[in-house]
Amino acid sequence: MSPAPKIRQLAFRLAVILSLVAAAGGLLIVLGWWGSIPILPVPLPDRSDVGAIGGFALLFGGISTATVFMSGQWRWLSPAAGTVVLVLALWGLVGGFPKGLPLDAAPLSLPSAATFLLLAVGMLSLRATRQLQVVATGVAALCALLVCIYKLVVYAYWFQDPSGRVLLLSMPPQSAALQALLALALLGHLVHRLKKPPGKAPGLVLGSYGLMVVICILGWAHFNHEESVAVRKDAEQLAANLSRVLEEHVYRSFDPIDLVFGEVARQARTSGLGSITESREEWRNLRATAESLPQVSALIILDAQGDFRLFSRQFPPPGGNYSHRDYFEAHKAGATRHLGELVAAGTSGKPIFTYSRRLDDSDGNFAGVVLASLEIGYFQAFYRSLDLGPGAAVGLFRRDGELLMRAPLLPDIAEQDLTRHPIYTSLIHQSPAGTFVGYSPYDGEQKLAYYLASDSLPFVINTVMGMNSVIMPFERRFVQSTGVLALVLALMATMMLVQLRALERTALSYDRVRQSQRFAQGVLDSVSPAIAIVSPTGEIISVNAAWRRFGQENGASDSTSHIGQNYLSTCQGAEGDHAEGADLVAEGLSAVITGTSKEFEHVYPCPGPGGERWYRMKVLPMSDGSGRVVVSHESVTELKQAEAALKTAANTDQLTGLNNRRAVIEQAESHIANARRHHHPLSLLMIDCDHFKKVNDTFGHAGGDEVLRRLAGIIRETCRTGDIFGRLGGEEFVAVLPYTTGDGAKILAERLRQAVEHASVTHDGDVIIFTVSVGVATLKTEMDITEVMKEADQALYHAKANGRNRVAVMAGETVSPEV
Ligand code: GH3
Ligand code: MG
Ligand code: MG
Repeated sequence: MSPAPKIRQLAFRLAVILSLVAAAGGLLIVLGWWGSIPILPVPLPDRSDVGAIGGFALLFGGISTATVFMSGQWRWLSPAAGTVVLVLALWGLVGGFPKGLPLDAAPLSLPSAATFLLLAVGMLSLRATRQLQVVATGVAALCALLVCIYKLVVYAYWFQDPSGRVLLLSMPPQSAALQALLALALLGHLVHRLKKPPGKAPGLVLGSYGLMVVICILGWAHFNHEESVAVRKDAEQLAANLSRVLEEHVYRSFDPIDLVFGEVARQARTSGLGSITESREEWRNLRATAESLPQVSALIILDAQGDFRLFSRQFPPPGGNYSHRDYFEAHKAGATRHLGELVAAGTSGKPIFTYSRRLDDSDGNFAGVVLASLEIGYFQAFYRSLDLGPGAAVGLFRRDGELLMRAPLLPDIAEQDLTRHPIYTSLIHQSPAGTFVGYSPYDGEQKLAYYLASDSLPFVINTVMGMNSVIMPFERRFVQSTGVLALVLALMATMMLVQLRALERTALSYDRVRQSQRFAQGVLDSVSPAIAIVSPTGEIISVNAAWRRFGQENGASDSTSHIGQNYLSTCQGAEGDHAEGADLVAEGLSAVITGTSKEFEHVYPCPGPGGERWYRMKVLPMSDGSGRVVVSHESVTELKQAEAALKTAANTDQLTGLNNRRAVIEQAESHIANARRHHHPLSLLMIDCDHFKKVNDTFGHAGGDEVLRRLAGIIRETCRTGDIFGRLGGEEFVAVLPYTTGDGAKILAERLRQAVEHASVTHDGDVIIFTVSVGVATLKTEMDITEVMKEADQALYHAKANGRNRVAVMAGETVSPEV
């Protein structure tokens, strides 16, 4: 398998595994949430929300994963599923899904909606053109991955600090897991579809872009984390300051009451309770005090039995016993100060709460209670004057969580209490001030609460900020920074795709180049001449198979045979027998390289194991304008041999195998010229068979031929090395004897004549005996071949005339036999 499908398969498998892990994680969270299993140490939201979340996860997850994996089989699936997701995403974005469906009733958050919109685009484009599909799927996957990573990052922070839940309002982790699943499935699909070029380069491109993406996302997550911390800090600061203001207000409201209470307590201790309750003067003073304090609706004093002893609005007070009231019982049991519950006033029916103090007599025994009924309206007016913003509230609670006052006031306020809320059950016992994040029992919204327990009075101020308004500025910046990040990532993804495409193209063209190189090499290797491509500097760049064989036959050590060697320098440095030829080759090669000649050809012999070989070397310039030349060595041994055979055939007499007339005269001419030039003696014998007609007539033509062959043999045997002889035609032969005087020639001619005389030929059972006559001529100055031959002919004529079977030198002069 080539690397490209291997990488694709690996990436796809990885994506599928990660998808499954993400899906399993998401499922675990949803199940834990749904089944109230305390997998996570977080307060659980409403169960119906979890149902919606689960349904949402199942619907989107199911549709998108099925689409991604099955769209190969069913062509209609991706457009259909894409449309469904698109409609749902738009619906969720615009108004939220209707209640009753297993979907979130609240509108989708912007990032989630954007993710699903892009997801829908990705699904719709699964059947589109490859380019659109790759871009759309890639962008959708990136966005989904981005949101998912963000949610997981935030979720990780949340794990470290449960109160950080402030940012998870619209980003539950299971939706992060769902988005991870979608993103990975889409990316897997994308990678699966992306044709990747082979080699290491795509890995490097993917790796470097991956690193950049990771750095960008980390930077972005860090920025958002800092932002979220700052936003949370700001909200806490605001709530804390507000609580301090309210605490101050409560102190200012209670301080004058405490002064009055102190005075009453002092008087009861020193002068007895009656000194206050029975004096009209005291009653007037107390009434004036109560009327001057807008927070106080009435002042009341009860005695140790709980009987009504003083009422600031009326003197004498109406009767009645209040010993069963909480505050009375508390004071009787020893409590110095007490904040009462919120109740409807007995007289006006308005909501009030009480603040009371225990009275002691001079012995320190319980003497009664002084009590102020406090106007809710007074606190209300002040709290209302604070601009708290949407979702915010301030509340005044007893330390036990009993609600005294809340702004904004709720209709059924008297029934609301937080006595079992963690703030009152545990947090205020650990620290008198702090933050808590949770759902409001009044409006169900998630809140950031700052609680502040007074150290001197038994109340707690609770300032609550609505999460929606707290995270709004953060969300705005989050959307902006996410937009920028998405833009950057989209840009990087585009660049990466462009680079991958470029690599793909490069790889393809590289392949083509290699193919054409292989083709060219194949062509070169399949031709018989040994070919080398030589660079303009004379270096051998490339050779063919025949060249390598030629090199190996001639002792080259490696199979590349001379590649890299310099042809010119090798020729120029040649020594010994080949030096001359090599110089010639070097000259011709440089002439073609420099362009001074169009081609160079040189035929040279080369000794081989089976005899002499011949090669034709040719140098031709390459037509590609590179300045390179093609050097070829082609064997011409056979041609040379054929040429030689042809030449021999043309010069040889067929019957006798001796030189024919043309060859012998040609050679004789050159010897005569040589002899004349150097003044050497030279003689010529003209040999003619005697009465040959008779031989023919007697023994047939074949017999005559046999005689001629025999005679040729005798001539060959008699002549010395360096002598030239041949058949002039018919039964007439000639021998040219260089460096031979007339006397020497006569001796040789005589020897020949005698050899013939003693020879015989057997033909068809007949023994043929024959003789020759020989005419001898000697070269004299100014003679040419014709004249020498003419003289020899005349001598021969004389020999014939004188009876044949004899040697004659010019007319009349015979040497032998003596007749
Ligand atoms: P002389 O002694 O005067 O030379 O007599 P001759 O018969 O040899 O003379 P002539 O020149 O009249 O005859 C030559 C004969 O040689 C004639 C021809 O038929 C015969 N002859 C020529 N060429 C060949 C050949 O190649 N083979 C054979 N068998 N006979 C040939
Ligand atoms: Mg003759
Ligand atoms: Mg003859």
